[in-house]
Amino acid sequence: MIQTLVDQFGALHGWFYEAVVQPAVFALQLGEYAEEAFEGTEWFLIGVAELFLLYALLRPLEALFPVQRITDRGARWNDFIYTALHRLGAFTVLIFFILAPILDSLTALLHLQGVEPFNLETLWPGAATNPVGGFLIYLVVLDFFDYWYHRASHQFHWWWGLHSLHHSQRDMNLWSDNRNHLLDDFLRDVYLGCIALAIGVEPGQYILLTVASRMLQSLQHANVRLHFGAIGERLVVSPRFHRLHHAIGVGHESDGRGTLGGHNFAVLFPIWDIVFRTADFSPRFEITGVRDQLSPPQGSGRDYGRGFWSQQWLGLKRMVEFARKPVP
Ligand SMILES: [Zn+2]
Ligand SMILES: [Zn+2]
Repeated sequence: MIQTLVDQFGALHGWFYEAVVQPAVFALQLGEYAEEAFEGTEWFLIGVAELFLLYALLRPLEALFPVQRITDRGARWNDFIYTALHRLGAFTVLIFFILAPILDSLTALLHLQGVEPFNLETLWPGAATNPVGGFLIYLVVLDFFDYWYHRASHQFHWWWGLHSLHHSQRDMNLWSDNRNHLLDDFLRDVYLGCIALAIGVEPGQYILLTVASRMLQSLQHANVRLHFGAIGERLVVSPRFHRLHHAIGVGHESDGRGTLGGHNFAVLFPIWDIVFRTADFSPRFEITGVRDQLSPPQGSGRDYGRGFWSQQWLGLKRMVEFARKPVP
């Protein structure tokens, strides 16, 4: 079944490249980049398949079990632009391929100095050759580093200036996962790409790991009243668990004295929140957003922007502002 799907996808990839991309590449006299264009076409098509699948699976769930009525359809459409840009543009995968030769040269340099970098394969022989086992190990290891990245973006005030863009969506929906500042996206992709290369993840595997991870993250942001039960909640991050991270006054602020903090930072596996004591499994679905975007007296009515560019620009301004003085 999976093999048939892979074969069919391969055939579609070949056809689309020959019919559409290759003629365009040669018409633009970019023939020397034909190989890169072939790979890029594959990521693009994976992104298209992902968008269709997300819509087909999550939209009916949102219609059947909504947490809240979506009042701002424009904001949801804007989130879709973020998702399309991120997944069709394949930034994450592109950065991995750019980093690979750089880290290769670094490894060679270290090797000359007699330093052997850490590799999961040396620690656990056979880990990378067993497809399912290797995949899961890498998913868990990368998720551990993702937890700390996310927690750090709530810890440092300048970083929160950027990350608060993600939290400023008050009508969370299946496209909200990618509502991020581009600078934050870039930092995260470089960070995770370096770690993946350092632990020996192969390019083909990285694409799969990225797709699996981001599909689960889209589910977490969907407007669905869904949890995975007492045990399931502790195994995989559910929409309820992540929604609590987005809840005003619970997930991303702590004591009201300008000290940042919060709960439920885990990206895929809540185990990190349990181990590092930041988990909150309360069975509730709260309203989401950032306190200072609320009208006075609850907040200061701060504007987080409506369109893509205004949100990006205001994010940069917040980064500079919060770096100078603590978060209001
Ligand atoms: Zn967050
Ligand atoms: Zn989120």
